[in-house]
Amino acid sequence: MVANEQDWTAAGPHEVAQGLYRIPLPLPIAGLAAVNSYLAEGPDGLVYVDPGWATEESEAEVIRVLRVLGYSLADVRTTVCTHHHWDHYSQANRWRETIGSRQLIGREERHSVLGYSVDAPVRYPTQVAQLREEGAADLADAIASMGVPDLETAMGYHAPDGWLDDGEAIPLAEGAFEVIATPGHTRGHVILRHTSSGALITGDHVLPRITPSIGFEWSPEPSPLSSFLAPLDATLALADGLLLPAHGSVLPGTHERVREQIAHHEDRLAEVLGLVADGLDTAYAIAASMRWTRRRHALDELAVEHRMIATGEIRSHLEVLRERGAVIVAPEGARRYLPAQPLRI
Ligand SMILES: [Zn+2]
Repeated sequence: MVANEQDWTAAGPHEVAQGLYRIPLPLPIAGLAAVNSYLAEGPDGLVYVDPGWATEESEAEVIRVLRVLGYSLADVRTTVCTHHHWDHYSQANRWRETIGSRQLIGREERHSVLGYSVDAPVRYPTQVAQLREEGAADLADAIASMGVPDLETAMGYHAPDGWLDDGEAIPLAEGAFEVIATPGHTRGHVILRHTSSGALITGDHVLPRITPSIGFEWSPEPSPLSSFLAPLDATLALADGLLLPAHGSVLPGTHERVREQIAHHEDRLAEVLGLVADGLDTAYAIAASMRWTRRRHALDELAVEHRMIATGEIRSHLEVLRERGAVIVAPEGARRYLPAQPLRI
C-alpha cells in the first residue's frame, strides 16, 4: 500500500511488502511529525527496525499494533537501527533493558555512541571547536552553554549488542535484511534491503521531501558530505525498489529521489563556490549570507542549534569543494577557504 502525502502518519500497521509492515510512531519533538518504524518476522521472533523514541505514548502504539498483528511486545527479539539519533535508537536502548531484545546498529556509529555522555561539560564538542575555528565565537558560546534536554537524559544510553557491517545479512523468516553502509547523515548510518521484495528501508539517508542533515552527531567525520554522496551513487546501482523512508510517505521507486538529492547537493556546491569567489571565506559567513528552510529564514532567525547545523552543512560542502580542488584552505588564522587558481569545479 502506498500512502499519499497527507496521511503518512496515519496509524498502522501498513503492509508495504509481503510480511513487512510500516508502523508510524509519534515523536515528542516539534517539527517532525512521526518516525516510520518497520517490522518483519525473524527466525526467532520479530525483527523491529527503527522502533522510535522511548516514550510511553510511542510504546503504547507499538503494543496496540503488535496486538492487531497477533503479537506482544515480548515477541520483539531483535532491534535494528539505521542510526543512533534518538528518534530511531532510544526505544531500542530501552527495550534492551526492559524486554531483553538484541540491539544492532552500524559499526561506524561506535564513534558517537561510545563517545556520547549526557554528563559532558559541553554539548557538541566537535561542532563548538569548529565554530571557534570559523570565527563564530558567539554561536560557539551559545552552543557550549546549552544543557542536555531532559528528553535525552531520561533513558539509559549504551552500546548495542552487535555492530553491523556492510554486506551483512540479518535473517528473516523469509529472506533477509541486507545491510548497506550509507555514511553521511551519521558516520555509521545503514540502509536495509528487504531481499524478498527488493524494497529499501532508507532511514534518514534518502527522504521523500527533505534532504537529511549531514554529520550532525557527537563525533562527526571530517568530510561527511563526500561520504554521503558516494553511497547515493551506489544506491543507483541497485535495482529500483520501493522507498521506505524513516520520515514521510512510501515512494514507488528509490532512483528518482536519489537523483534529486544528488542534484540538490551539486546545486548547493555551485552556490557555495560562487560565494567563495565573491570573497566570503568562512563556513559561518557563507551560511549567514544564505536563506534557510522552506520559509527562507536568515541564519540568525533560526534556533541556535539549527544555526550550528546550517554552518556545519556549509563546512561539509566546502570540504567537498576542497577535495575536488576548487577551493583551498588559507594557510593560517581562522579556517578560511579561498578559490583555487584557476577556478574549477
Ligand atoms: Zn537522523
